Amino acid sequence: MTEINPFLQSFLYIIGGEIAIEVGKELLKSENEDITDEDITENIKERIKGIKDFEPDDEEILKLNTVRKTLYKLYSEKLAQFRRIRDKSTGWFIYFWWHEFDLVEEILLEKKNLLRQKLRDRLEYERENYFFACEECDKNDTKSPFSDAFELNFRCPECGSKLSAKENQHITTFLKEKIIQNQKVNLSLD
Ligand SMILES: [Zn+2]
Repeated sequence: MTEINPFLQSFLYIIGGEIAIEVGKELLKSENEDITDEDITENIKERIKGIKDFEPDDEEILKLNTVRKTLYKLYSEKLAQFRRIRDKSTGWFIYFWWHEFDLVEEILLEKKNLLRQKLRDRLEYERENYFFACEECDKNDTKSPFSDAFELNFRCPECGSKLSAKENQHITTFLKEKIIQNQKVNLSLD
């Protein structure tokens, strides 16, 4: 992989904004060498000097700390890895970073499948239960499935009013639409 494809670009942006894209570019460029977070920061500064304006404040966004935070975000999303060695003269750790961008489709697919599973579980829950809620304090928007309502003697634990059946058709419709949308998302690049 030599350049950032559109999926990767969007994903990086979602993870850490524009700076994550810049960090991504540096990780790609240094595929075959050791690069530290300090190198990455300097390279970005050098590369975008006078070309690109980061909002709201270039200086702020290009602090070493920001780059480090961004690298850790990429790491926690499995898009980057590091190894560290202790600098013998200072005693501090030096971190060398590399990307794992080849995994991006896999990671996105995993996220997509996880979301689909959550939607399906929720849909199943909505379909398999009858719900009851208090109309008097419905603003809390809490609804109880039949078994819970039964245990409460169909009385609201907050205000003591009678619990009444609550329609959930709109939720199941919404969830079905979301599941269809999720299926339509195409994550392959060809
Ligand atoms: Zn109530």
